[in-house]
Amino acid sequence: MTPGKSAVVIGAGLGGLALAIRLQSAGVQTTLLEQRDKPGGRAYVYHDQGFTFDAGPTVITDPGALEALFVNAGKRMADYVEMLPVSPFYRLCWEDGTQFDYGNDQEDLERRIHALEPADVQGYRHFLDYSREVLDAGYIKLGAVPFLSFRDMLQAGPQLARLQAWRSVYSKVAQYIRHPKLRQAFSFHALLVGGNPFATSSIYSLIHALEREWGVWFPRGGTGALVQGLTRLFEDLGGSLVLNAQVAQMHTQGNRVTGVTTQDGRHWQADCVASNADVVHTYKDLLAGHARGRDEGRRLAGKRFSNSLFVVHFGLKRQQPQLRHHTVCFGPRYRELIQEIFGGDTLADDFSLYLHAPCATDPSLAPAGCSAHYVLAPVPHLGNADIDWAVEGPRYRDRIFDYLERHYIPGLHDDLVTCRIFTPADFRDTLGAHLGSAFSLEPVLTQSAWFRPHNRDAHLSNLYLVGAGTHPGAGVPGVVASAKATAELMIGDLQP
Ligand SMILES: Cc1cc2nc3c(=O)[nH]c(=O)nc-3n(C[C@H](O)[C@H](O)[C@H](O)COP(=O)(O)OP(=O)(O)OC[C@H]3O[C@@H](n4cnc5c(N)ncnc54)[C@H](O)[C@@H]3O)c2cc1C
Repeated sequence: MTPGKSAVVIGAGLGGLALAIRLQSAGVQTTLLEQRDKPGGRAYVYHDQGFTFDAGPTVITDPGALEALFVNAGKRMADYVEMLPVSPFYRLCWEDGTQFDYGNDQEDLERRIHALEPADVQGYRHFLDYSREVLDAGYIKLGAVPFLSFRDMLQAGPQLARLQAWRSVYSKVAQYIRHPKLRQAFSFHALLVGGNPFATSSIYSLIHALEREWGVWFPRGGTGALVQGLTRLFEDLGGSLVLNAQVAQMHTQGNRVTGVTTQDGRHWQADCVASNADVVHTYKDLLAGHARGRDEGRRLAGKRFSNSLFVVHFGLKRQQPQLRHHTVCFGPRYRELIQEIFGGDTLADDFSLYLHAPCATDPSLAPAGCSAHYVLAPVPHLGNADIDWAVEGPRYRDRIFDYLERHYIPGLHDDLVTCRIFTPADFRDTLGAHLGSAFSLEPVLTQSAWFRPHNRDAHLSNLYLVGAGTHPGAGVPGVVASAKATAELMIGDLQP
């Protein structure tokens, strides 16, 4: 325990919340400052005409990592939020009408693989073994270990070499699996954390084993209910959440941070400060008064950033029983489209979409007889494609709606009750995301582990990072693991 010590956490995304809970559980008096009117960050929630729209994460994996936050605080997760299993995990669809549902039933999965390519059943078993091995080495053993020195990286080196971490997710999947659609089915997961399956380290194939090991879940009431549960836990522990508190500046003395000031002039002092805000914003803007901030801000701004997303939330006056909770709608091109999303300077004519239909698991998210949805398209970030989203956004939404009506939701236009869009410009302006990236730094090997911004700053000894921009990276399990790594450092450093 660390009585009498205090911390400020900037940003109440899932990583910031998880860190604040861990600090408060350890007796550190923690203040969580969030610039928006609600906590959650990318997991914000909109309420509109009786519909509940989760803005961001919907595929919740590794519920045990969330449960650990409650257990560590001496509480029961079930008293705060109820997790519902999602089945199938996904429905994958192609334009030629092929559908591939997969969940956690090995026999059923193998039957479906066999229907597409008999030889791939054996190949899939090998891929699953590989994915499990990476899960153990890359997530269970190293996910919450802060890589602060190059020695840590060298120690992990032989493991990474044995797992062929320099290869891409796609190339590893293709080593085991032949059928082009199955190659897509087992490689698209990298996109869930902002990774290009053709460039991201094969370490990220662990996401498949993560799903198979612990399932895919959805909180009753939506991801917003998980955020609410975590917020209530933090406040029950005595933590203080301040909303509408945009931090404008961190103060330093020598190589230490002493406190923060918000845009409207409120000031907080603390023994240590952690930032869950975008990493470029953290250094370039909040530490603009310190040489470390200017140097590191410039260095990080030159890194490779993940793609952005175009998201449309919409409510329909009819239920959609033909849809499963999570649908991936593959377009006509895979590799070429992904290369354009990660490196192109315009919007492609075709798209691959993720369609969310949460009422399949929890009908309470829409008024009786109606359904709540979102659809997202991965798009280039603003540094690659300088698109005027105020003009292009509504047009792009209409193209996506036409496509959905044609392939997935007959009568969509007639049944539309409400809709809103969230564009790369909103990621930049509302969340402070550098280049409007949806997932922060791109998870390539040269920007992972020790090469990612560290959980503790190398120069300012009581400044820490948490969330998608630090180790291990984006995604709910990633940012919750980052909170564990960062909390252990902070609590250790606060010991007398
Ligand atoms: C549309 C979408 C769908 C996704 N789907 C999934 C999924 O299904 N499964 C999954 O695992 N992951 C998913 N992800 C990824 C996952 O949501 C994110 O990686 C994760 O939620 C990021 O959490 P974070 O802790 O980095 O904080 P963020 O969510 O980035 O929150 C940072 C917070 O800091 C605040 N902030 C910034 N600057 C300041 C400041 N100066 N002062 C005060 N506050 C500030 C922001 O307002 C924000 O609330 C998805 C992401 C998106 C965008």
